[in-house]
Amino acid sequence: MTIPSPSSFDAEHEPMSLGDMDPQEFRRYGYQAVDWIADYLTNIRGYPVLSQVAPGEIQQLLPQTAPHAPESMQDILADFDTIIMPGITHWNAPGFLAYYSMSGSGPGIIGEMLSNALNVNAMLWRTSPAATELEQVTVDWLRQMLGLPAPLFGFINDTASSGILVALAAAREAQSDLAIHEQGMAGRTELPRLCLYTSQEAHSSVDKAAIVLGIGQENVRKIATDDDLRLDPVILEQTIQQDIAAGYRPFAVIATIGTTSTSSIDPIPPLVTICQKYNLWLHVDASYGGAAAIDPEMRWVLAGCEQADSLIINPHKWVFTQADCSILYTRKPELIKAAFSLVPEFLRSTDQHDESIPNLMEYGIALGRRFRALKLWMVLRYFGQDGLAARIREHRRLAQLLRQWMAEDPEVEIMAPTLFSLVCFRLHPQNIDDENTLNMFNETFMNRINANGHFFLSHTKIDGKLTLRIAIGNIHTNEEDIQQLWGEIQRKKTEVKHW
Ligand code: PLP
Repeated sequence: MTIPSPSSFDAEHEPMSLGDMDPQEFRRYGYQAVDWIADYLTNIRGYPVLSQVAPGEIQQLLPQTAPHAPESMQDILADFDTIIMPGITHWNAPGFLAYYSMSGSGPGIIGEMLSNALNVNAMLWRTSPAATELEQVTVDWLRQMLGLPAPLFGFINDTASSGILVALAAAREAQSDLAIHEQGMAGRTELPRLCLYTSQEAHSSVDKAAIVLGIGQENVRKIATDDDLRLDPVILEQTIQQDIAAGYRPFAVIATIGTTSTSSIDPIPPLVTICQKYNLWLHVDASYGGAAAIDPEMRWVLAGCEQADSLIINPHKWVFTQADCSILYTRKPELIKAAFSLVPEFLRSTDQHDESIPNLMEYGIALGRRFRALKLWMVLRYFGQDGLAARIREHRRLAQLLRQWMAEDPEVEIMAPTLFSLVCFRLHPQNIDDENTLNMFNETFMNRINANGHFFLSHTKIDGKLTLRIAIGNIHTNEEDIQQLWGEIQRKKTEVKHW
């Protein structure tokens, strides 16, 4: 065995001892890490938003062989600075306006740090009573902030993609005569083909869940949308009727509040009526848009959702909570439990367990569950509903301001309504009318903006038209950033026009 030379270690670092890092060493580097985080957040505007490294560059800088001998924390942290940091795209940067820019916050970081230190597994109530009980309380606080009526059962998943899988498994479970839980679906020729409905604008996680659950992508009906990209209820009902007539078994509808491309809102009340008429599970994907309802002025976005069977909202998107944190609410927890509960002997609670408090491992795929409620609890308390609402309102104001400037520029075409804080646009110089040329022009323009390092935008396509998205959701983004972005848009527009 190679014994490392003592000179490469801190005084406290005892490589040959078998325990954990020495508490003094932990304190020293822990303080250093906190100082680093505070400096990082203070200087966040100095980093290029989109990492500038070439593919493979980071891997090349890292040793390809695993470390045999212990290394000093000092060396590890130095490599973090020089090797890892250049490969980071800064989701914390105020100029990160791509996808749905998601933003953590100071209290969220502290919550994650403490949760990491505790490292509990919230699989059963008894494996950390506070983790389960805090989770129940915080998801209920958020329910109240959103104005959704009680009772509503909720729990935290890592992502909305996991949540929709759980919701659709429960929806499938509701078709109890098919006995899918016991008999599965494979090889059962007597089973009707299950199908579900969502709009052409729905997130790809719907398709993924359908694939995983054995429904198959072909049986995800993508219902056409109206001019504002909202699912059309009339076409939905016609499609359901055609499917029933053809021998299919419709079982769920997935609506979206804040679609990924343009943040359109599907009309929930008529969808509730249709789902009740045909006995379908209604799931609402409010991953991004749902947060807006924290502001009482925006409560209307969730109108009708009190009648949905399940709903997802992602605090890691627009509630300033560190990833990962996605909440699945449901009015039918018993069906989720029926779909997932499987308690092997080694996990059976032998002490007296209060049945009114759930063992959350019974509500999803994962047995092990991180203590995510801690950061959410800190964020909700630190900002309060008023503070969260004020930040969300400010983001909406900034989006409207930008939109107003765009509306005054004859070379900018606004591509979708701005209901939340997403602005969809494209450049449309007067001398270019060919759609392919316009698409190329806008892609080049976006790539130029992104290469500059100050801002990061992403794109989508609306009716085949390449559309740029500016999603304002970062806690650090302010009016000055948006003014600078507008200046950058004007400069790059001129540059690309003369290119
Ligand atoms: N639903 C919508 C509307 C989204 O925009 C996204 C991601 O942006 C998702 C679902 C998936 O979210 P997650 O990354 O939590 O799985």
